[in-house]
Amino acid sequence: MQKFDDLNISQEMKTRLKSLGFEILTSVQKQSIPLIIEGKDIVSRAKTGSGKTLAFALPIVEMVASQQKLPQVLIIAPTRELCEQIAGVIKSIAIHKANLKVVTLYGGTPLKGQLLSLEKGADIVIGTAGRLIDHLSRETLILSNIDILVLDEADRMLDMGFYDDIIKIISNIKKRPQTLLFSATYPENIERLAKNILKNPTKITIEDEEKNNIKQIAFQSRNKNDAILSILKSYKPKSAIIFCNTKIQTDELYDFLYDNEFDAISIHGDFEQRDRNEALMQFANGSRPILVATDVASRGLDIDDIELVINYDLPFKSETYTHRIGRTARAGKDGVAISIFDSTYKLEEIAPEAIITNISTLKVDEKFTISGQYETIHIDGGKRDKLRKGDILGTLCKDLGLDNANIGKIEVTDKASYVAIDKHFAKDVFKKLQNCTIKKRKYRVWLLK
Ligand code: ADP
Ligand code: MG
Repeated sequence: MQKFDDLNISQEMKTRLKSLGFEILTSVQKQSIPLIIEGKDIVSRAKTGSGKTLAFALPIVEMVASQQKLPQVLIIAPTRELCEQIAGVIKSIAIHKANLKVVTLYGGTPLKGQLLSLEKGADIVIGTAGRLIDHLSRETLILSNIDILVLDEADRMLDMGFYDDIIKIISNIKKRPQTLLFSATYPENIERLAKNILKNPTKITIEDEEKNNIKQIAFQSRNKNDAILSILKSYKPKSAIIFCNTKIQTDELYDFLYDNEFDAISIHGDFEQRDRNEALMQFANGSRPILVATDVASRGLDIDDIELVINYDLPFKSETYTHRIGRTARAGKDGVAISIFDSTYKLEEIAPEAIITNISTLKVDEKFTISGQYETIHIDGGKRDKLRKGDILGTLCKDLGLDNANIGKIEVTDKASYVAIDKHFAKDVFKKLQNCTIKKRKYRVWLLK
């Protein structure tokens, strides 16, 4: 057991980690952080949820100097959600480095804002491969000063077909940077990538000692809709993620659950970024306790207490299966992963450790449904309008007379705020909010569906 306090890092960092509640290093952090600080290249494999983000974010924040104009650190990640998540972790531990500029670059958002941020001088750039290439070809991103390169979720990026893009991005870096590769699985193509871009890397492999935290169960069923109802009505989870392989299936299952009085929400690749964020927000704040998703959602989603992961469809690869079920039992908690399958052959290949169970053994409570505790109100104003949580809370409690106990999570983003209100009061609060002001300003509000 090693404590952050015993590491050779700055006092400010130790204090900050303590106030964030981080005390003991996870295995992957214990092995990676000292090597990174020594300047070594590493290839680090550890399962989802093992704390890889902090394993590179901590030494990077320690080592990087702020305000150098050109970026010194480049982090490539597979999805926009993950870029934001990494940026969030870095910012949260870097508050003592107030001038440190962290810029995220991913598709689906206008180039203009990203250009402005880059012009102001970025120290750490976090981006997806496609958008990074876009900026490189426009010469709006200059990589000549990069000292540290991180590939996060490298397995996933290769799955998505980004091998050549990654090589192309790296070819824009002048002197060879210290390179850190993180991955949950280690398929052959990672080996190839590592050989190409790393120099005598130290390989770190954390075996999944916590695996037994996830109870893996599989049910054979020809009628998957019947099966899913039986599963939900017997396991009775507070929240669950259900994975489907296709967008169409995701939409259909969402409709089916809705018809059966389960408060679900769905996301897949066709969703606009904002809709995706809003759906995830409604899931995380308890408005829609069931998330039906394709694999786009299985990355970059950081919600700690998902009790149950269900594979409505078995994924095509065991690596995808590992990632999906890694959404439960995070940070030492227990979790259950259930798969519905049609052929035993496929189950053995994808999920060899799942225990096959007969669906007729389930104790189904026909009356059971899951409904969200809250509804989410969207306020069309955020940090840019200098709105804070406290302002919204003040209006709700003082002006509208709402009891604190009926208010759930309040999330304030750049442009918008999202407030979870007990569903019995949400409509009323929504109506009143339309006609009142927050900090003397009137905002457009609506109820998220
Ligand atoms: P990975 O990238 O390996 O999938 P994350 O970096 O997303 O994992 O971390 C998973 C969760 O563990 C996060 O909620 C994070 O805050 C938490 N975590 C990370 N390091 C520690 C630690 N040393 N102690 C306690 N919790 C931690
Ligand atoms: Mg990660």
